Amino acid sequence: MSEQHKPCPNCGNELEFSAEHQALFCRHCESIAEIENNGGAAVATTGYLETLAGLDNGEDAPEQIIAVCKNCAAELELPRNVVADRCSYCSSPIFAAEQSRRQLRPCAVIPFKINFEAALEHYRIWLRSRWFLPGKVKRQARTGKFNGVYLPHWTYDCGTKTDYTGQRGEYYFVTVSYTAVENGKSVRRTRQERRTRWYPAAGTVENRFRNVLVPANHSLPETLVKKLEPWSLGSLIGYQPDLIRGYQEQSYSVSLESGFGEAKVIMEPQIRETIRRAIGGDVQRIDGVAVAYHNIGFKLVLLPVWVNAFKFRNKEYIFLVNARTGEVQGERPWSVWKIIFFSIFILALVAGVIFFLNR
Ligand SMILES: [Zn+2]
Ligand SMILES: [Zn+2]
Repeated sequence: MSEQHKPCPNCGNELEFSAEHQALFCRHCESIAEIENNGGAAVATTGYLETLAGLDNGEDAPEQIIAVCKNCAAELELPRNVVADRCSYCSSPIFAAEQSRRQLRPCAVIPFKINFEAALEHYRIWLRSRWFLPGKVKRQARTGKFNGVYLPHWTYDCGTKTDYTGQRGEYYFVTVSYTAVENGKSVRRTRQERRTRWYPAAGTVENRFRNVLVPANHSLPETLVKKLEPWSLGSLIGYQPDLIRGYQEQSYSVSLESGFGEAKVIMEPQIRETIRRAIGGDVQRIDGVAVAYHNIGFKLVLLPVWVNAFKFRNKEYIFLVNARTGEVQGERPWSVWKIIFFSIFILALVAGVIFFLNR
């Protein structure tokens, strides 16, 4: 119940998490209240296989979640994947009921550190350095409407044991003779040529991975989300609802298992690199690879992102600000007119230079 309703002890208004104060804050009377039990549960990694075996494979969460605002009693249909948000009528924090959540709950959060005003400032600086941005977009940026979103991510730890077969290539040089034409005469010459001798190779390598990060839903373009990395996962603290109050929390839609499938793809290059080093020689070929994963652990964590999305010429553009570092990533429209005028300007400049050089 405390998750749903947390009134300011001074004026009764709903408290929210403040990025500036790293505490609960009342927007009405500006009171500050400490966060309960200083960060909630410990940040613990959970066994992957045990959790997978214990999951109910039936329907995980309802498609449509209805939440009731404890402040103004409005009934709200939450957007897809959203389990906590602000009331669209009175702006108070609202939370989806326990039973309408997915089976696995986030264990840890990196709290917002950059507030809305600071995010907007980072965003404006970023926009100013973009060339050929349509004027309408620049104007829109000044009044950017950012949404504070906690994005769910899976992180996986595991060990791998990989049996491989391949070939080790060693360079050697041979002397090759050839015919060249010098001063109109044919002459015999020699040169050194590099060749590779291949030897069979096979063996086993081991790797250890920690915190392989996989976005746990597709609500935002994955390429943009991935560009916000790296996150300092050392800043993770135990999940607790006080940290979410006033922000949007999204749930996962990528399952624990398919998330691990993506983690395997991320781990693969490092495993192959280890194999190459084990094979040695000057150049390597990898023919067969069999990876066994063991001691797999995972965490479901929430990462803080400011999201701004707007429509321009019927296309939606999305801008993200990492709410820890202020890093901005975004899709951007191009102003065709600005590019055309710039090209004309450059052509005129070149023509002018040529004209004066010819005089
Ligand atoms: Zn208050
Ligand atoms: Zn409300």
